[in-house]
Amino acid sequence: MMVTLSVVTPMYNERAAVDHFVARLRPALDDLKVTYEVVAVDDGSSDGTVPRLLELRAAWPQLRVVKLRRNVGHQSALAAGLRTAVGDYVVSIDADLQDPPEVIGEMLAKATAEDLDVVYGVRSDRSTDTPFKRQTAGAYYWLMRKLVGPWVSGQAGDFRLMSRPVVDTLNELPEQRPVYRLVVPSLGFPAGEVSYVRAERVAGETKYPLTKMIKLSLDSVTSFSAAPLKIATWLGLVTFVVCLGLVVSGLAAWAFGVVVPGWTSLYIAMLLLGAVQLICLGMLGEYVGRIYAATQNRPRYLIAFDTGAELPVLTTTSGRA
Ligand code: UDP
Ligand code: MG
Repeated sequence: MMVTLSVVTPMYNERAAVDHFVARLRPALDDLKVTYEVVAVDDGSSDGTVPRLLELRAAWPQLRVVKLRRNVGHQSALAAGLRTAVGDYVVSIDADLQDPPEVIGEMLAKATAEDLDVVYGVRSDRSTDTPFKRQTAGAYYWLMRKLVGPWVSGQAGDFRLMSRPVVDTLNELPEQRPVYRLVVPSLGFPAGEVSYVRAERVAGETKYPLTKMIKLSLDSVTSFSAAPLKIATWLGLVTFVVCLGLVVSGLAAWAFGVVVPGWTSLYIAMLLLGAVQLICLGMLGEYVGRIYAATQNRPRYLIAFDTGAELPVLTTTSGRA
């Protein structure tokens, strides 16, 4: 049976990497002897990524360029790609060659041979990542396994193959900001893994500064768990018990006529209580903000243009769920 393949690649200011990427991806895909399209989703680049992609497309018609109107972030750009891709199987891969394109063939072979709906690319070695990246990633995946469940792989990012039913399910999710590396395993489709060595970024700089990493972590936690709200409750209970003790000791001091200056203890208690209250308010705010965004139901991205694919395609123009 012939299958069709879509390779989805979000790109944000990847002008320096895009030539290397195409030069390695094309032979890897041509070798597969399947009908394929490459959906390059430009996430609002300002460095000439799009004009270069269009030039490359002239010599490689399977390269489809989908330009978003502005930078909406990796996960939303991925959402745009998943919605436009038409293949029976869809692979998401980074544009910086940290995920080796040759592994796509292995993923496809494994999926068809073992009748799997998802094949994760699992990093067997991250030694090329900076120690900071490895440590923050380690903490992130540790927390996610605790909050989301043990089916989240500690070493799987967004390099994965998904079957059409999985992609259709993802596209129908009403969620505003799904974090795909957590949502996909939670769906429970039959899944397998192929391991690969994470390479160094071929050119350019990381497009994931600390701010974006924090954003992704907040989305990850709030979209899967109300645990932080429960922490607020526990913090409140603990402080309540501590305060009860303080009330008793205060009354005792008053009864025995012990006069204490008391400034330091009051000052510390006030600061601590204020901090605890702000933390709890902040946690509530994170959820309320997301509920607000969900009720607004604005499109997550707008497509400026789509060059269209070789495969028959039905174009959507916005990311509204
Ligand atoms: N990316 C994107 N939009 C963004 C940030 C990143 O589309 O706002 C893309 C980027 O072009 C790359 C992928 O997401 O293809 C992963 O980004 P990067 O390699 O910079 O992240 P890192 O590997 O450093 O975590
Ligand atoms: Mg990278």
